[in-house]
Amino acid sequence: MTLSRQRKSDLKRRLAEGRDDSRYCAVIGCAQLTTASQGKGLNRLYCRSHEDHRERHGSYIKRSYTAGQLGPHRAEALRALHALSKDPLVKQARLGIETLYATAGAPVDAFRTRGLTPEERARVTWARLRQSGVDPLEPLAAWLAVVAVIKADPQPDGRSEFLIVQAGKLIHRLAGGTHKVWQRERPKGGVEVISLHRYPASRGRVLRHVGDNLAAVAEPLELMRFPR
Ligand SMILES: [Zn+2]
Repeated sequence: MTLSRQRKSDLKRRLAEGRDDSRYCAVIGCAQLTTASQGKGLNRLYCRSHEDHRERHGSYIKRSYTAGQLGPHRAEALRALHALSKDPLVKQARLGIETLYATAGAPVDAFRTRGLTPEERARVTWARLRQSGVDPLEPLAAWLAVVAVIKADPQPDGRSEFLIVQAGKLIHRLAGGTHKVWQRERPKGGVEVISLHRYPASRGRVLRHVGDNLAAVAEPLELMRFPR
């Protein structure tokens, strides 16, 4: 038996074993069986839709924070970072973002990212920020905003995965999309304007890489006492 056939049969056996225990998803109020109990996965605690939810949002139950929820925290953090731009911690973090920008390579437009690995897509995100001239203090403010909004949430998901994914999503949003506009002549005369907009897909693993990159640079800022 080849290694891959061996692994397939192991997987089948594990799936079959999981099917016996008819367990329901651990999310309160969810009536779905776990993926293991459905014989469709290895997760013995959660159902498929809550697994997907975690993939997208970094949490089994919390939804992503909206731009409206994060906006005021972002603005406040950005003001504070500018006011403290001479502080060694801020300087160091700023240098960290500049390094991410500088080592990100060429920006690839959103029409051409197919086939890239999650790591490569994460680098493209940083390259896009650099190309758009995004102030390096902006991603740092984004991190502090996510930390603040989680802190202010009366029912937060306190796991670091949620923070990482939420920060990754915000950076992804800052990086924007690719927009192409061109004109073409109509067959019956005249000119029409065609526009195409594409945003890079915000896939789970890419968000986690981007969030991890940012965490490594921005976490020390949480030690600062920002003036109000
Ligand atoms: Zn569920």
